[in-house]
Amino acid sequence: MALNLKKSKESKAEPDLTVTGASAAENAQSSQEGSGAEGKSSQETAAGTKSTQEASEENTPMVLAENLVKIYKTSDLEVLALQGLDLKVERGELTAIIGNSGSGKSTFLNMLGCLDEPSAGKLYVDGRNLFKLNQKEKDLYKRSTVGFVWQNNGRNLLPYMTAFENIVTPMLLTDVSEKERVQTADELLDLVGMSHRRNSRLSQLSGGEQQRIAIAIALANRPKLLLADEPTGSVDRKTADYIFDVFRHLNSDYGQTIIIVTHDVELSKKVNRVVAIRDGKISSERILKEKYTNAFGTGKVNWMEEDTQEEYSIIDRAGRLQIPRHMLDELALKDNKILVSMENDKIMLSAPETKKEETED
Ligand code: ADP
Ligand code: MG
Repeated sequence: MALNLKKSKESKAEPDLTVTGASAAENAQSSQEGSGAEGKSSQETAAGTKSTQEASEENTPMVLAENLVKIYKTSDLEVLALQGLDLKVERGELTAIIGNSGSGKSTFLNMLGCLDEPSAGKLYVDGRNLFKLNQKEKDLYKRSTVGFVWQNNGRNLLPYMTAFENIVTPMLLTDVSEKERVQTADELLDLVGMSHRRNSRLSQLSGGEQQRIAIAIALANRPKLLLADEPTGSVDRKTADYIFDVFRHLNSDYGQTIIIVTHDVELSKKVNRVVAIRDGKISSERILKEKYTNAFGTGKVNWMEEDTQEEYSIIDRAGRLQIPRHMLDELALKDNKILVSMENDKIMLSAPETKKEETED
């Protein structure tokens, strides 16, 4: 079956990571609620024409979060980690999530990975409502729909095994043949630029090299959605650039849908779409300007200096908006009241007139 990541550079409008052979069979199985691991008919479907269910799934966004709320209850207090988060991620998108520490980024990613449950709201991935999955479906989802890369790669890796053995391990839980496992693992090693360390034990590799293996492991079962939580958080600048290039290559050449949480401002400036989380809600979104979309690797752009992205604030369904803190500070509001008016086609926000001016009149 080989890696089965189909190159889709020429057809960027309709990215296609979706795969043929066993992995499509797995995907078909995972969408058949509670079906077992065998499912001969779904393998036949995968090899032939797409089932109606698969076809309709392709028309849905990869991720749809609506009004997602998460409250962590500890013995004496409640933490509102997500406060009505709305986000849509289309298939084939590379999206970065940024935000201060404690803003809810990992909470959201863990929910996408089915590692945690929300207190309220809706979350659909690949057309499926994650909160309606039973335990067996969750296990299958974690194994075949999502791949996860953490900052602390110790969570993915087995240090006493070789790079190759680490990548093969997740495939042992599937019905992929040994020949296919070996072939896929070797292709993934090549993809992350680690073929030369195939037989090295993980403990002999540097942090950056281990992180590349962690990406290959996350891809071993050809997930539809790749999630990475601060994947460059503990490596140096050069390694971070290299790892980021691997993600970008996966996205642009194979149409892999990827969501990366990052603190790295420089890296986030190179992404087509960056959403910012503030206090458990999406507050703004930045989109790469047209002229920069083909500028990667040309050396012509100073990514830190130039304004590569257009920034938009996000209005929620109730019409609420988060105004950038520095703008609010300039208004120097006395309390929480602000005047909203319409001038021509613009909505204006201004500080109410002060008492002093009123008495002067
Ligand atoms: P980020 O990844 O953006 O730094 P997190 O999603 O980890 O933020 O955390 C969001 C908020 O939820 C923080 O205030 C954090 O302390 C709290 N939190 C996260 N996990 C738990 C937990 N298991 N129990 C209690 N509070 C938690
Ligand atoms: Mg975090």
